[in-house]
Amino acid sequence: MAHQPDYRGRFAPSPTGPLHMGSLLAALASYLDARSVAGTWLLRIEDIDPPREVPGAADSMLRSLEAHGLLWDESVLFQSTRLKEYSATLADLDAVDRVFACCCTRATLGPSGSCMGRCRPRPDEATSLRIKLDGDTGFDDQILGPQQPPNAQSDLVLRRKDRLYAYALAVVVDDAWQGINYVVRGSDLLSQTFAQLEIFTHLGFQLPKYAHLPLVRDSKGVKLSKQTGARAIHDASAVDNLRDALRLLQQKSANMPAGSAIELLSLATEQWLPEALADHPEKSLVYP
Ligand code: GLU
Repeated sequence: MAHQPDYRGRFAPSPTGPLHMGSLLAALASYLDARSVAGTWLLRIEDIDPPREVPGAADSMLRSLEAHGLLWDESVLFQSTRLKEYSATLADLDAVDRVFACCCTRATLGPSGSCMGRCRPRPDEATSLRIKLDGDTGFDDQILGPQQPPNAQSDLVLRRKDRLYAYALAVVVDDAWQGINYVVRGSDLLSQTFAQLEIFTHLGFQLPKYAHLPLVRDSKGVKLSKQTGARAIHDASAVDNLRDALRLLQQKSANMPAGSAIELLSLATEQWLPEALADHPEKSLVYP
């Protein structure tokens, strides 16, 4: 595999619970993709939604990543320290006439989730700030191939009525600021990517390349996530967890002899073949 020292990738979990197999998969695939070309791999904790966060979850994620040998470069970026930058970027987007205030509720938004600037907030009313999207940005996913934006794209919230900054804004600001040029993450975020690419473009930032991983589902077909009560992985079983994740990622290294997480990761890095996932006939992976 050719060295690509300019490669900068990241894992960017929200601290809403401990690591589970779905999040381990995203961490591992983004790590292997970066390390296989001698690139940089960063860790960013997306802690900008306190009502959804679980006390201690960020620490537990950091410890689990370390126990699995997934050691990041540079210092961890906590998004809660970046609120001034989000505010400044919102002003930049406003300056190019891309932001509007919206007082819609879920009921008034309609099926597409779009306000399109139709509501008329009273001066004293709490509003969210939304982005006007052109909805014409496709991209070539490194795993899924060419992707076209959906016909009706909702105009995403950038700052909520409770004045918390939204994921869509913070993720772009920080991917740009950290110089991330490769994003490997779960397909649950695929539909967000079109809007993120537009925001990058309106701000004049370089566009990263994206690879979206198939989702991990349980045997009943339910997506593994903190919301659906996915089981936390145990740090004491790090090697077995990594093997399970490599198996889900269709990697031959899953069955190679290795005595420690570090040893297995080093084999997996040497053998990393993301194409194996692209060839995977199913759109989701089943675990356990
Ligand atoms: N923080 C997001 C999550 O935990 C992921 C962000 C991303 O990878 O773009 O779902």
